[in-house]
Amino acid sequence: MNIYVTRQIPHIGIDMLKAKGYTVVVGDDREPPSRKRLKKMVSKNKYDGVLTLLTDHIDAEFFDVAGPQLKVVSNYAVGYDNFNLKDAADRGITLTNTVGISSDCVAEHTVALMLALTTRIVEADSFVKRGKYKGWDPMIFIGTDLCGKTIGLIGAGHIGARAAMHLVKGFEAKVVYYDIKRNADLEAQGAQFVEKLEDVLVQSDIVSLHVPLLPSTHHLMNEERLKMMKPTAFLINTSRGPVVDEKALVAALQKGTIKGAGLDVYEDEPNLARGLAKLPNVVLTPHIASARESARDQMAVMAAQNIIDVLEGNEPKGKIKTVIS
Ligand code: NAD
Repeated sequence: MNIYVTRQIPHIGIDMLKAKGYTVVVGDDREPPSRKRLKKMVSKNKYDGVLTLLTDHIDAEFFDVAGPQLKVVSNYAVGYDNFNLKDAADRGITLTNTVGISSDCVAEHTVALMLALTTRIVEADSFVKRGKYKGWDPMIFIGTDLCGKTIGLIGAGHIGARAAMHLVKGFEAKVVYYDIKRNADLEAQGAQFVEKLEDVLVQSDIVSLHVPLLPSTHHLMNEERLKMMKPTAFLINTSRGPVVDEKALVAALQKGTIKGAGLDVYEDEPNLARGLAKLPNVVLTPHIASARESARDQMAVMAAQNIIDVLEGNEPKGKIKTVIS
């Protein structure tokens, strides 16, 4: 069997594929390979499986160049918005991802962004490092409490539910959530389901997004919905950038429609909407919510195992439903 891994991932996953006797080619690109390069790579060899990253866009054109022997494309990511599901279903190609693997660290990163905003720790750090601290002052960097606040989750799957657990247990927060499916375990921990997404927006002190990027969630947070949030509220996005209309968010932050935002993901990564980076009331991280050694190793193991399962005729754990019934 021939496997193409589009960029370097932790060796533990590569070793698993090699241990099966597969021939493994690993891309040595430092930057995400372009569409042209991806197609060139798969046209050179007949690959049975391809292990992709979320920056690799996989659709009909790619499948057609790769050839009919391709059986599986395994995403080294939670989420699959870089895949065209229909194009894969039409060709009988199995798609997989690493759902459920990095939930703990993404949930922690979500809470870290909340704390960064409420404590103003990033601004304060820069203030001290720039030599601006001239002595204790009762009026500088007045923050907001996180403890006891109402946190609104939009999407309460693996990551949303873990974040809720940290917030309820660690910060005695009241958690309200909206999801297209109810989460009984989460409700057993005290989280309250609301029937309408807008109900989350109007009552939350912090709104945190945990939905996959789908046509139904694209620009889920738009100008109109941002206006429904409290002017004292923060928005956190560790899901996918296009879930938020970033231009509308910048305008809302400039006008004071909402108090601040903590973002790990952007609408047109790595580019930022004009004006975003200049705002004092935002904390921005470079899509690193799952960047921990443990999570990245586990993602590599699951992405490799998903390929092995498909090639050995077993149902992979991370299989993506490509046919929506
Ligand atoms: P999950 O599938 O366990 O949960 C997603 C939840 O969203 C589900 O409960 C689903 O019912 C709900 N949902 C779907 N459509 C919805 C809609 N229109 N309105 C409300 N709820 C909706 O996924 P997860 O593991 O919790 O991950 C969530 C997302 O986080 C991923 O899809 C991925 O895009 C993102 N993510 C980002 C990072 C990062 O590094 N920043 C890392 C991992 C995952």
